[in-house]
Amino acid sequence: MSDAVSKRRKVQQTNVQQALLVETSCSKSSIARILNTLHDSGVLVEGALRDPRIRSIRGDLTRSAAAVGQAMTPFGPLINTMTLPTRPAMRWDYISPMALIYKLSQLSTGFCALMLGVIGALRPNEPLRIVLFCDECRPGNVLRPDKGRATQHLLWTFANFPEWLLVRDQGWFTFGVVRSAAIASLPGGISNVMKRVVHCFDDFAATGGAISSNGHVIFKAKVWGFLGDTKGLKEIFGSKGHSGFRICLRCKNVCRFLDEQIAEHSYLVGLRCPQRHRFDVCSDAEVYEMVDELERVAVARPAGLKEMQQTFGLNYEPEGILFDRTLRGVVRPASGWYHDWMHVTSVSGCANVELEQVLHTLSRCGIRFETISMYFAEFVLPKSHGKVNPDWFTTKRIGRGQDKDGWKGFAAEILTVVPIMNIFLQDVVRPLRVIDERVIECFALLDRILKLCMLGPGKAAQHIDLLEATIDQHAELFAAVHGAVIKPKFHFLFHVVDHARDLGRLLSCFVTERRHRMVKAPSAYIYNQFERTLIASQLSSIVGRFATAIFEPTYLENPSEVTGDIAAAFRTVALTGPVLSSTVAHLLCGCVRAGDLVMTVDRSVHEASHFIQVVLGGLPTVWVCLKTRSHLGGRRYSVEHVNAYFEEADNVIAPLMWGRDGDSISIVLPPASALW
Ligand SMILES: [Zn+2]
Repeated sequence: MSDAVSKRRKVQQTNVQQALLVETSCSKSSIARILNTLHDSGVLVEGALRDPRIRSIRGDLTRSAAAVGQAMTPFGPLINTMTLPTRPAMRWDYISPMALIYKLSQLSTGFCALMLGVIGALRPNEPLRIVLFCDECRPGNVLRPDKGRATQHLLWTFANFPEWLLVRDQGWFTFGVVRSAAIASLPGGISNVMKRVVHCFDDFAATGGAISSNGHVIFKAKVWGFLGDTKGLKEIFGSKGHSGFRICLRCKNVCRFLDEQIAEHSYLVGLRCPQRHRFDVCSDAEVYEMVDELERVAVARPAGLKEMQQTFGLNYEPEGILFDRTLRGVVRPASGWYHDWMHVTSVSGCANVELEQVLHTLSRCGIRFETISMYFAEFVLPKSHGKVNPDWFTTKRIGRGQDKDGWKGFAAEILTVVPIMNIFLQDVVRPLRVIDERVIECFALLDRILKLCMLGPGKAAQHIDLLEATIDQHAELFAAVHGAVIKPKFHFLFHVVDHARDLGRLLSCFVTERRHRMVKAPSAYIYNQFERTLIASQLSSIVGRFATAIFEPTYLENPSEVTGDIAAAFRTVALTGPVLSSTVAHLLCGCVRAGDLVMTVDRSVHEASHFIQVVLGGLPTVWVCLKTRSHLGGRRYSVEHVNAYFEEADNVIAPLMWGRDGDSISIVLPPASALW
């Protein structure tokens, strides 16, 4: 065999091995056994495997995964190592941020073009804004009493990305993974880890990163803040959280446990205070003054430290992120944390609590859960949202009267249940005049808050004043009608607005939670060198996906080429390239499938029939074939369509939920309706 052929075959073997590692969730041993069986049965071409023995194939797979991490860039290798002072000390592999961005820009012309656009929109000397995310995910049995394989998953992104990318998997980059059990022996825990992580971004702000595009395009990026849930943010900053008197680092005067003691018009306010103007905003410098004071007291008067920590709501943790003086000006403890709206509203959050209270109120008035289930059963969801669950209004999901955890359901379920329940309250319950009108009004405001948050990271931030006014109005009413069940998230909902103003984006954790799957699947079969093996697997997965990922706001899933009349019709207008067709499209408003009802910008309602992609003026453009339903007044539309036509897919604003309503249908208004 000539050298050239041999070299080409070796590259092919490596590519196939890497693809197998990326595309399957099998262990290397399983892949090796499958390939060995295929080889023995004679279905593989000659030379497909360097050595067909299981042990050798497994070794080749390990080497091809490691080869990705060892690849060099002008910013060093893709995988770097630091030492964590755990007991015993641990060598921790992480994906170098600057090397990763450079490598991905080499791999994907789509990503490179996107980065050029993002960098080009910056003002002179303006850095890209980096958001870090850290959350624990639990592969395997979540009910295990010990931490088991519970793993901290660290991700990051540029907040400057277009909003469609911020809600997709490719928009978030892995930094590293580390077992919670390993961090348990680290002084300062996750706060200590995050301190080291932030330092890994120092060069991004100082000397800058680069992308590879006809040479190097240099840009700077700065750590802007941390996204997370209550527990994650508390651990990062080492704050007392719910166990302290002061639960919120952003407010100086909001206290917990003191509701009875606080006089009505005093400076201090309780957790239940529904008036934003009464919160005394704390600056970053003031939090650092408290940190300095804790350091002084720890040396001069250690006996007073415990009380001071309670008062400040901060733990004295010399190894924590706030006690690293070199990070002042980078880490902003009061303004640079972003409590995400999904966790605040929909994970044992404000919406869960309110939904449960409303269900109890309805039940007390004689409206049975079965009746509500029957009403919901008439509704049809967009195909990618699943189906109405008959369990939603059973005792599996609903606790007792004063249970503060709220209705039990996933965040995605909350986003489906709340809008339909709002219609039930408006259309069915209100005319009966059996419950307090304020309960219905309060729920309508909750529905509006969720709709505004669902507009997308960029659009929601554009309408932040309206979101603020709606949250404030809702808080007053909620405190009046459901005051007994207020939880800390009631207070944190106020700050969702502040986060969006600081960042210019309203981020949620839907996408980052989805990314946990990439950790959970491989970690089920990794036994040795957990962090090292898992990060190598993550990296080959990311690199493999970027090589084929589509960096377009709209694209078709599994398209096939069409010919015949449709293609001919499109060819009459100026277009080049093939005409592609699919029954599934990813649009600016999310995933839409054939058969879904959609609303377009002119607020008309249609059934999506199929999707076409053509290249128009050099740019791929997605069109959707729509069958229009006639408007019968209010939210009612006809069952039959009146005409069919092609519409540019960007004009579709949302897939719709709808319900059967006699001989017509009734739609649930989309998130954009919160602006009408
Ligand atoms: Zn606060």
